[in-house]
Amino acid sequence: MTDSNSGVPCPFCGSARRSALRRPYWLCRGCGSVLQYPLPSPGEIEAYYESYLATKAAMNPGYLDEESYAALARERTMTLAEIGYPLSRVATGRNAELGCANGLFVRFLAEAGSRSTVGLDVSESLLALARRLPGVGAVRFVRGSLSSLPDGSCDSLFMFNVIEHSPDVAGLVQDAARALSRGGYAVVETPVSGLVSRAFGASWRHLMPDEHLAIPSARALVALFARNGLRPLGSTRFGCGLTAGAAPRRVKAALDGLAKRFAFGDRMCALFERV
Ligand SMILES: [Zn+2]
Repeated sequence: MTDSNSGVPCPFCGSARRSALRRPYWLCRGCGSVLQYPLPSPGEIEAYYESYLATKAAMNPGYLDEESYAALARERTMTLAEIGYPLSRVATGRNAELGCANGLFVRFLAEAGSRSTVGLDVSESLLALARRLPGVGAVRFVRGSLSSLPDGSCDSLFMFNVIEHSPDVAGLVQDAARALSRGGYAVVETPVSGLVSRAFGASWRHLMPDEHLAIPSARALVALFARNGLRPLGSTRFGCGLTAGAAPRRVKAALDGLAKRFAFGDRMCALFERV
């Protein structure tokens, strides 16, 4: 294993010391996060989302059907309960989702009684799909990032599978803290490095170049949010690292159960409060 001091600081802990993992990935020696280096250019990232994700959505018609919505609603209800997010906040507060993609979760927010919802995404093609969903008439869809939200304008900010795609995760968390009101909640879900990523090594399922740019360790994630005035309130870990079909269904289900129960899963959802 080669050591490198690239001079580029880790967005989670600031260390420039890292070990080669599998091109183009590096393991931060300061906090154990997994980082892509070099990063794709902003133009490459934008082109990627316009073409790849829109193609994926178009190729998968099930993406918009009621069954996928029901599955997502069940999963999110469970995850939000596990991290201690009170769903009643949705009806009384101003809600935003960064990376709303084809809009299933903003529909969930609308059905949970949200009277103020902003759905943000970088892809116009995905926003076009989102606008077609039932129940999202009052949702404001915005193409862009959190920078379009005024200071303190948000009481609950949801970021599912977003931060690992960001070429500037430190700036993103700073912007999230700025957009949140005092006492506002941020809900963040992301893959995390740790026991599972170490066990799978170079074949870990979340090593997806140009798509996953920075994957934190659980501790590094919490530390970055805490440095930005976001206090951790609760979290859950899940996912044993096996993809569907990689093992017999019962084996995978048993391992997924252990990953959640003993909190070593390679995915994490966490709740933070803006202090
Ligand atoms: Zn680090």
